[in-house]
Amino acid sequence: MLTVHDADALSDALSDAQRPVGFVPTLGGIHAGHLALVERARRDCPTVVASVFLNPLQFDRPEDLERYPRTPEKDLAALAAAGVDVVFMPSPDFAPAEPTVQVAELTSRFEGEGRPGHFDGVTTIVHKLFTTVGPDRAYFGEKDYQQLLVVRRMVAEQGLDVEVVACPTVRADDGVALSSRNALLTGAQRAKAATIATALGAVAGGWDGDADTARVRLRRRLEDTDGLDCEYADIVDAATLEPVEGETDAPARAIVAARIGGVRLIDNMALKAVGRRGRAGRPT
Ligand code: AMP
Repeated sequence: MLTVHDADALSDALSDAQRPVGFVPTLGGIHAGHLALVERARRDCPTVVASVFLNPLQFDRPEDLERYPRTPEKDLAALAAAGVDVVFMPSPDFAPAEPTVQVAELTSRFEGEGRPGHFDGVTTIVHKLFTTVGPDRAYFGEKDYQQLLVVRRMVAEQGLDVEVVACPTVRADDGVALSSRNALLTGAQRAKAATIATALGAVAGGWDGDADTARVRLRRRLEDTDGLDCEYADIVDAATLEPVEGETDAPARAIVAARIGGVRLIDNMALKAVGRRGRAGRPT
């Protein structure tokens, strides 16, 4: 595996790369969720590039950026073992002083509301990474569901020739979605974090298309957990992220952000489209 730190070295490394080139952008703190994206890219593409760049533009709180796990040596070892060909690890000045690429829709609610400027930071850096790496396919996790939709929109609006591939969320045995931030949780906090996945799982398991009831159940379960401060919990349309009112036949998503201690966690689950007979409680 080759590790490069600037665009010229990257372009040399990829000059005769076999296409398609698959790309996995990360903030570092590599875990099995990231490695599942690498594995998928490996299956699809003869050349796999990953990036490790702790993008300062997407952090609205300096203390969040400060606390974010930084484990470059472990990251490189894990990416090499997973079969990455080239790691792009640019220096901090890769980020411009101000965001330059924005997506208007999909970005104002949820993560955009709780973290002002967050998505402008994401789209600016993902756009710069895409134009620097020049991948054919880029792999993103459903764990960051809103980010996945925003990146897809950015690619369409900017006319980039990159296929964005969505990969399922990887969870630990207790159901918690793997995240670099989980390392910051104490044992007791971790047990509270598990209630997020349990609440989402209960809603997904009992989903019959009734968004109002599902929303109330989801919020009640989270509010009943001491020490868990729910920022949002909602049932949204899977394509537009608009909150669903009443009943729906369309694919939906249950989405949650919560703080446990100083640690902010997000998670979501698919609510599969149900036919009318499914809503009546009969198998479809
Ligand atoms: P991050 O380093 O947190 O920006 O994550 C880099 C990529 O890995 C993003 O596309 C994330 O959605 C994805 N990712 C992070 N955690 C998981 C997980 N538990 N399962 C699947 N993908 C994940």
